[in-house]
Amino acid sequence: MSDPGFESRASPIAGLGLFTTRTFSPGERIVQYQGKLATVPPAQCESTCPVYTLEITPGLWLDGSPSDNLGRHANHSCDPNAELVWDNHTTTAWLVAVQAIATGHEVTFDYGFSLSESLFQPCRCGAVECVGRIIAAPLRPNLRRHLRFSRPRD
Ligand SMILES: [Zn+2]
Repeated sequence: MSDPGFESRASPIAGLGLFTTRTFSPGERIVQYQGKLATVPPAQCESTCPVYTLEITPGLWLDGSPSDNLGRHANHSCDPNAELVWDNHTTTAWLVAVQAIATGHEVTFDYGFSLSESLFQPCRCGAVECVGRIIAAPLRPNLRRHLRFSRPRD
């Protein structure tokens, strides 16, 4: 069998991570993010979305929890080297490199969680600018404000 270009193994961020076994160029597809598509938010999302359920494009959710979805091993990072890209023609989602990725590096992307979801999802990505929660990049300033105001006062 040919090398798919990635492997799953223990990650310093959380659980299993997805690691490259060759180099990837910016814009190159790394792995398909497989799962069940839904046009309404999955019922479980009323409290907090399962970590593998991602809103891949506005109004379209992908439940990536099936074990044959190797893409689900990719961890979130506040400074990711990949992004989840929706292909409208083939109705498939892909993890795509956003920068050159060297062999043996962990593949990470922005899970794009909302502010309310982020409150239950600590982030340990280790990036210099890590905000400590898994949250979509554009919402990070809101989270910082929220955490400042919700801090207990004495
Ligand atoms: Zn982080």
